[in-house]
Amino acid sequence: MKSFNVTETLEACPACGARSIPVRYAPDVCRCDQCHLLFRNPRPTQAEIAASYDQGDTYEEWHKQDAHYTSLWQRRIKLVQSYVPSGRLLDVGVGDGGFLAAATAASFTCEGTELSQTGASFAKDKGLTVRMGQFTDLEWPEAHFDAITIWHVLEHLPNPGAAIRHAHKLLKPGGVFFVAVPNETHPILRHKLFGNGRPSPFGPLRPGSEIHLSHFQPRTLAGLLEREHFEVERLAVDDFYPDRSAAKRLKVACYQALARLTRWHCASCMLAIARKRV
Ligand SMILES: [Zn+2]
Repeated sequence: MKSFNVTETLEACPACGARSIPVRYAPDVCRCDQCHLLFRNPRPTQAEIAASYDQGDTYEEWHKQDAHYTSLWQRRIKLVQSYVPSGRLLDVGVGDGGFLAAATAASFTCEGTELSQTGASFAKDKGLTVRMGQFTDLEWPEAHFDAITIWHVLEHLPNPGAAIRHAHKLLKPGGVFFVAVPNETHPILRHKLFGNGRPSPFGPLRPGSEIHLSHFQPRTLAGLLEREHFEVERLAVDDFYPDRSAAKRLKVACYQALARLTRWHCASCMLAIARKRV
């Protein structure tokens, strides 16, 4: 598959359902006039996207960076435990299951979801419980989980609003939803002036590469969570950076301080921690 057939056209915002969705960045990035989500329209079908995740070298690339990911998962699990010390945890889009394995080792009772057959087979080889399919199509009892994590997956989902509502339904009252996504504040400035040659997230979608169907900004993400009856307890930098040098950590600390003091989010990824209202 060298390119997608872009055949799915949306008539309404995939987050809030509003119908006023003009093109914001030509040719195919629309912006919802109500919730301000940026999203691809038209876009490839889910069947094409799922097939594309099983080709390419995504997992090989991950496995070359095992040490980075081990440290990242440890940071993530410490963060989760600072809000939810133990209990039932669901990870949406487990990839190869690295985070879920860390959560299991930290005594959570874990389950995960995954769309990619390749990713799920790596996770199952680790002895993890992973259900295949789109998160919103998979059911559990209501108010079943203490924590739901979705690390850099929401931007890939066809209907992020439904995913947030589904997480809300599955969490216990007071349960916590951890969401990390790229931060697309000032997209033109960020990618044209400071992109360092990285491909723009608004460039053409290609099979085997990252398929971001939605682009979030801090206020959009917080607004969508609040709209679906979550209390956003923290909106911060997502410290996923592989470089753990003192200089890089200082830079991340400065990003964190700026976000906390001025609400200006300049890091490339952000993290929302939202509690289901009791
Ligand atoms: Zn909307």
